[in-house]
Amino acid sequence: MSVPIDPGLNELAGPARALVRRDQLAAMRGSVLSAMPVNMLLGLASTLVAYRSGHGEVGAAWFAVSTLANFLRIGLCRAPCLGLALTPDTTPAMAAAAAQSIERHLRACIAAALLSGLVWACQPLLCEGYTSAQALFYLVITCGITAGAVTHGTAYARIPLAFILPPLLSVVACLAAVGDFDRNCLVACVLLYLLALTHTAFRSEAGFRESSRLKNEATALARSRAEAHARVSALADEMRRRATHDDLTGILNRGGFIQQAEERLQAAPISLLLLDLDGFKLVNDVYGHKAGDRVLIEVARRISAELPEDSLAARLGGDEFAVLYDPIAAGVPPERLAARLVAAVAQPLDGFDAGRIGVSIGVHSGREPSLTEMLSCADAALYAAKAAGRNYYRMFDTGLRERLQIRRDLERDLSTALAEAALEVWFQPIYAMDAETLVGLEALVRWQHPRLGWIAPPDLVATAATAGLTESLLRFILEQVCAMMQILRGRGLETVRVAMNVSPQEMAQVPVDEIVIERLKSLDLPPAMLEIEITEETALDIGAVLGKLQALSRAGVRVALDDFGIGYSSLSSLRQLRADRIKIDRSFVTGLNASDDKRGLVLAVLGLGRILGLEVVAEGVESDEDLRTLQAMGCPFLQGYHLGRPMTVPVLETTLLSGRIAAA
Ligand code: C2E
Ligand code: CA
Ligand code: CA
Repeated sequence: MSVPIDPGLNELAGPARALVRRDQLAAMRGSVLSAMPVNMLLGLASTLVAYRSGHGEVGAAWFAVSTLANFLRIGLCRAPCLGLALTPDTTPAMAAAAAQSIERHLRACIAAALLSGLVWACQPLLCEGYTSAQALFYLVITCGITAGAVTHGTAYARIPLAFILPPLLSVVACLAAVGDFDRNCLVACVLLYLLALTHTAFRSEAGFRESSRLKNEATALARSRAEAHARVSALADEMRRRATHDDLTGILNRGGFIQQAEERLQAAPISLLLLDLDGFKLVNDVYGHKAGDRVLIEVARRISAELPEDSLAARLGGDEFAVLYDPIAAGVPPERLAARLVAAVAQPLDGFDAGRIGVSIGVHSGREPSLTEMLSCADAALYAAKAAGRNYYRMFDTGLRERLQIRRDLERDLSTALAEAALEVWFQPIYAMDAETLVGLEALVRWQHPRLGWIAPPDLVATAATAGLTESLLRFILEQVCAMMQILRGRGLETVRVAMNVSPQEMAQVPVDEIVIERLKSLDLPPAMLEIEITEETALDIGAVLGKLQALSRAGVRVALDDFGIGYSSLSSLRQLRADRIKIDRSFVTGLNASDDKRGLVLAVLGLGRILGLEVVAEGVESDEDLRTLQAMGCPFLQGYHLGRPMTVPVLETTLLSGRIAAA
């Protein structure tokens, strides 16, 4: 009879195989232990029958040896085994050691089963080799115990086989020794029975191993699914965190802040602080973006350190931060917290020029209908704090509420004003050094609001930006500028250039180059008659504007750098922005006659203009003395109230231009 020793097991990889073996050992131990009481009872019954048939002494000895063998088997089944602790994540080295210990235990159990089988093989001693009257009893017992061993020992065939082989062979030997026909027939039956039991034992073991393998695979699959699930939820948590937190500083981002602030709004009255760093752009420009990032991280740390418990801190973007907290629960009034934050941020930063970084804070306290409303109130306070200088905080109060209301009215009314052409563009003359030859006109927007009166142009430009009307405003002004160019051309005054102011927001947000070039082309106006005035602030977002300036410049439109001298990066701006002209800010021009500093500065700019081949315009010429000083310095172009105020087109046509026709 050829029976595979380990059917199917060899194909399994080492760890899987060891796990099956572990299951086999555990199940085998269980079945042996549960079979022991029956084994003992049958042994006892055999001994009793032996005693009754006059074989008491042999029976007692047999029972003693049998009991010893059984205790040995029980002991082996209870012995600690390293292999039983084997799990799928055991290291390969430990798994190998475990596999070895399992094999050792299995071998010991086979030996013990064989020993027990040998004891049972001695039963013929109790019934004179199956010839006594009790032979039938012993045959039945032997068949019963061997059948039981195989039915029980499904996990590991070699244990029941080791146990059944000796007694059945001893039966065969005893019966064959007598040799009559009946017994020979019985021998054949017992051998057939042995064969059937062996076959069953191996079949059962193969079945057991297959189900053990499937069970282990299912466990491994469940584990890996649980692990994958854990990984996915960790990833989801991380993504949620990233969606609501700022990567750089680790505090909330705008989205996270709004989400959490909305929830708090329903609860107690809260205070909202909007913070905007002062001088941060300078750090970025002078020390680089890495340094800028370090500043932001440090500022976020300082802000967080000052906050009462349960406050929200967020970086809304760029150098803007927000704080939201309950001042009553925290016992800290918002004014005090704002002052503390200003002081904390103003502390010198390692490696940077002390005093350069500061923070302006707008504070809103109390209830508003929505978070958006609270944010615009705090923003209005922040704007006011910024206007007051750096390192200030400002509470939102009734004055600011009125101003906010005005801004909203303006936003609301601006689009109607644009549609109804209620806005106007006035023009201020620019003269050559002689203060008589008209060389240019600067377009200045004017809006007289029916209720609020004249609106300052910078407010108008800012309102257009918040109302999303930047492009409409630009197109409106461009129309008036083009109309003026046509008037000038009609009078043969092509040499008079018209200057149009373009704010940094307009420059960054609107395709100024395309709009302007297209309009000039469609009206057939010479681009050289137009000049675009930009400020140095435009250079702060150079990436967004450089292409547009180059396109304008290539088309022949001139570029002037306005308010020159009040920015900080003047020289680099000049190079980057490809200016053809610089306009000295009026703060250096007005009263120049009486100030050595101003004179020095104007002289320096004039020198710079000469060296770099740039035209220089002095704005804000308010008096005759200033005019004479500028003329003496050789300032080529002049503009100011003393020479001419901004005026409407009809006024300009009837006064300045009518005279010029005659001159031309
Ligand atoms: P800016 O470009 O520096 O324009 C010159 C401003 O100085 C004008 O004020 C003008 O009226 C004023 N000004 C001219 N000469 C003198 C003087 O001798 N003394 C004094 N004290 N002021 C003088 P305005 O029109 O109020 O404009 C203020 C600012 O608003 C402008 O400064 C410009 O930045 C902006 N702005 C004006 N119009 C427009 C526009 O159409 N578009 C854009 N984007 N900005 C404009
Ligand atoms: Ca200007
Ligand atoms: Ca200016």
